[in-house]
Amino acid sequence: MNQPVVRLRNLRRSFEQGGVRIDVLRGVNLDIRPGEIVALLGPSGSGKSTMLQAVGLLEGGFEGMIEIAGTDAAKLNGDARTVLRRDHLGFVYQFHHLLPDFNATENVILPQLVSGKAEREARERATELLTALGLGHRLDHRPSQLSGGEQQRVAVARALANRPALVLADEPTGNLDEATADRVLDEFLKLVRGEGSAALVATHNERLAVRMDRVMRLNEGVLV
Ligand code: ADP
Ligand code: MG
Repeated sequence: MNQPVVRLRNLRRSFEQGGVRIDVLRGVNLDIRPGEIVALLGPSGSGKSTMLQAVGLLEGGFEGMIEIAGTDAAKLNGDARTVLRRDHLGFVYQFHHLLPDFNATENVILPQLVSGKAEREARERATELLTALGLGHRLDHRPSQLSGGEQQRVAVARALANRPALVLADEPTGNLDEATADRVLDEFLKLVRGEGSAALVATHNERLAVRMDRVMRLNEGVLV
């Protein structure tokens, strides 16, 4: 059971901008093995977010093969895609996107309930993750009562709640000051490693990228 968690073959994506066609992804190939943490490095506008949207099965319009946990996404209908996403993927974005009226624990419980987990079990898992991220004293706080770094830690806990095979992180510390970004990224990597999840982490920051297992650079629409 050592099949890749992701296989991309000849992934392509173009956009029309003011009547002009721009080829953002021009044949991306990538395999990520279980537990492997891969940095997706590239300057702003190089297509990192576009690539994560493809792997996250969030957008159509792609050509090429996207395989998640051995399943070819092209062969699935919308509902089956949603289940595949829910069962195998976790997401962290630059902005936390936490629900403002729910406290930290509830934000981490919610995706587990959606996946059919019992409330008690979901609460235990939320407490475990938040405590591992140093938020044991913030369990009942709402997002507005938390610092930026704390909010992003809650978002990390939420992404890992359903034990995803792969975490997709798009500039996960891009909204934090440098010292906080360093700390949150360290905790993120430690937790992901401890959980045995794989991760694909988009960043334009070389300094952060080199802390991952492998660095892939998006250049002219292909990975090098
Ligand atoms: P990055 O995340 O590396 O900064 P993006 O993937 O966001 O890059 O964008 C790559 C290129 O694709 C940019 O030129 C951007 O303008 C273009 N692009 C992204 N999404 C769209 C869209 N929905 N419509 C048109 N152009 C888009
Ligand atoms: Mg981006």
